Order: sequence, then structure tokens, then C-alpha cells
Amino acid sequence: MASFYLHVPSTLRKFSLPASSNGATSPSQAGGPVIMELPLDKIRRPLMRTRENDPQKVKELMESIREIGLQVPIDVLEVDGVYYGFSGCHRYEAHQRLGLPAIRCKVRRGTKETLRHHLR
Ligand code: ADP
Repeated sequence: MASFYLHVPSTLRKFSLPASSNGATSPSQAGGPVIMELPLDKIRRPLMRTRENDPQKVKELMESIREIGLQVPIDVLEVDGVYYGFSGCHRYEAHQRLGLPAIRCKVRRGTKETLRHHLR
């Protein structure tokens, strides 16, 4: 059986894809979530100090991500151009510990009210 590989020049690798089929290309537009790479330091994690990760899980994820890459993006909320992460804590820490500069995210747009709801 023939295999197909997509060779993309590194200069063209920064792109985002709609995570739903409604044609939205940015979480800033009305529409569904989009998949995009975000620098780790661009994602605020307001609950990071109050929740502790399981070190064994993080270790296993590091090994797996090193080997096969991140298979499921973390969920991120965008409010007024600021990105917030409330889940995917083990994947985020695994990326930090691996020294990876960016992480694949499923970004959906929310309002300040959505944000307040997450912080409750
Ligand atoms: P997190 O706090 O990041 O959600 P969990 O241990 O609760 O950590 O879940 C790990 C998640 O990471 C699972 O949903 C799993 O499908 C996902 N995942 C993504 N990429 C990988 C990978 N390379 N190896 C293992 N799990 C992965």
C-alpha cells in the first residue's frame, strides 16, 4: 500500500486548523475551537499552585511524548487575547520538563464570565 508523507518547509509549519468543520480559522472569530501550537509561557495557569501533579504520570508522559509526540492537545480558553489553561496539567508539565517551547492546544474562545466560572 502506498504511504503519503507531507513535507512542509519549517517556515510554513506555524499554522492553525479549525477543530470543527464550521470554517473558523481563529478562536477570536465566532465559531468552534481551533488547534494551534502555543508557547508554554503564553498560557496562564491560574490554578497551578493549588493543584499538584502526579510525578509518575508526568514521567510516563515525558517518555511517551518524547517518543511519539503529543497525541491529544490540551484544552485552552482564550479571553480577550489571553490564553488560560485549567486542565492538561500533566501534559503541560511534561512539556516544561522536556524543555519544549510550545504545546499543541485546542483553543476555544470565552468571555470574562466563562473565565470567572473556571476560577470558581
Ligand atoms: P493531564 O493532566 O495532562 O490531562 P492525564 O494523565 O490526566 O494528564 O491524561 C493524560 C492525557 O494525555 C490523556 O488524555 C492522553 O490521551 C493524553 N496524551 C497525549 N499525548 C500522549 C502521549 N504521547 N502519550 C500518552 N498520553 C498522551
